[in-house]
Amino acid sequence: RTFNFNAGPAAIPLSVLERAQKELVNFQNTGMSIMELSHRSKEYERVHNHAKSLLTELLAIPDTHEILFLQGGASLQFTMIPMNFLVNQKTAHFVLSGSWSEKALAEAKLFGKTNVLASSKSNNYSHIPQIASFEDGQDDGAYMHITSNNTIYGTQWHEYPDSSIPLIADMSSDILSKPLNIEKFSLIYAGAQKNLGPSGVTVVIVKKELLATTSSNIPTLLNYETHIKNNSLYHTPPTFSIYMLSLVLEWAVEQGGLNIIQQNNEEKANLIYSAIDESDGFYTPHAEKNSRSLMNITYTLPDEELTKKFLQQSAEQHFVGLAGHRSIGGCRASTYNAVPLEACEALAKFMTAFRKQN
Ligand code: PLP
Repeated sequence: RTFNFNAGPAAIPLSVLERAQKELVNFQNTGMSIMELSHRSKEYERVHNHAKSLLTELLAIPDTHEILFLQGGASLQFTMIPMNFLVNQKTAHFVLSGSWSEKALAEAKLFGKTNVLASSKSNNYSHIPQIASFEDGQDDGAYMHITSNNTIYGTQWHEYPDSSIPLIADMSSDILSKPLNIEKFSLIYAGAQKNLGPSGVTVVIVKKELLATTSSNIPTLLNYETHIKNNSLYHTPPTFSIYMLSLVLEWAVEQGGLNIIQQNNEEKANLIYSAIDESDGFYTPHAEKNSRSLMNITYTLPDEELTKKFLQQSAEQHFVGLAGHRSIGGCRASTYNAVPLEACEALAKFMTAFRKQN
C-alpha cells in the first residue's frame, strides 16, 4: 500500500477495506452484496441504525440532536442550510476562513441577507480569524457559520466561539478527529470522504430546536424535516457508503474512541510540523502556529523547481497526494484518522533527508 496523504477522497483504514472485501459478495449470509440489498430490508436497516448509534456513541450526541445521512456532499449543505434556516428577513453571519466558507457564503447570498463577521482573506487565510464570542444585539441573526477545518489552507479552529445565535459548522475535514461538545452546535455537516469513509454520504447532525425556524415552501428532498421523519430513508440512501461508514465507526471505537484518536492525530501531525520547524526555513508553513491544522499540513519549498523535485522524488517513494491545492500551490500532507503513524514517520524522515540533500 502507498502512503496516502490525499486531501479527499482520502485514506480508509486497511482493516476496514479488508473487512468490506471479505463481506463484499455475501453479506451476512444473505447471498448478496450489501449494495444489492433493498434499502427496506431488515439487514440494511440494521447497518443504517448501527451507523447512527456508533456516531451517537463516539461523538456523545445528545437526544436534542438528529443524525441524518444525506446525498449531495457538503456542497449541497451550503444550499440547504440557508434554504431552510435563512428566513424572516434574518441575517446569516459568516466567518470566512478559506475557500469552502466563501462557497458557503455565496450560496447563502442566493437566499437572504448575509454578513461577514470576520475574515482572514487579506492574509491568504493563514489563520483562523478570532472571534471569541458573538452577541447578536439586533436579534436579526439566523445563524453563524464557520468551517472548523480549512482543508486547502491547513488551518483549524481549536476553540469554537460562543454564540447567542445558532452555530453551524462545516466539519467535512475534521469530524471524528477529536471529541466535540455537540451541544454548542445547532447543525454540523460533513461529507464523508475524509474521516468517515468513501464519498457518497453526507452526515448532518442537527438540533431539533433549529427546525422550528424552518422556512415553508422547501422542495421535499431539500427539506431537513423530510429526512428526519423518514430516518434518512425517504428515498434510496447511498447504502454502500453508509455501510462503509459503519465499518469506519467500528474501527474508531476499536481504536479507543476520540480521545485516543486525537492523541494519535497530534502525534502524527507533530512529526511533520517538526520536520518543517527544524528545517531552518527550507520548508515554510502556510498556517500560523496557533491556527495549525492537525488534518492538513501545508507548506512551501524555496522555489518551484525544488517543489517539483520534492513531489517527483516523494512519488517515487510511494508518497501520494502531497501536491498543494492549485489555489495556494506548494505541498499539503493530509493526515486524517486513517493515515497511520508509520506513514507520517516516513514522510518526516523523507522531508528531512530531502532538505539535507538540497
Ligand atoms: N467543505 C470542506 C471543508 C471541504 O474540504 C470540502 C471538500 O473537500 C467541501 C466542503 C466540499 O465537499 P463535497 O465535495 O462533499 O461537496
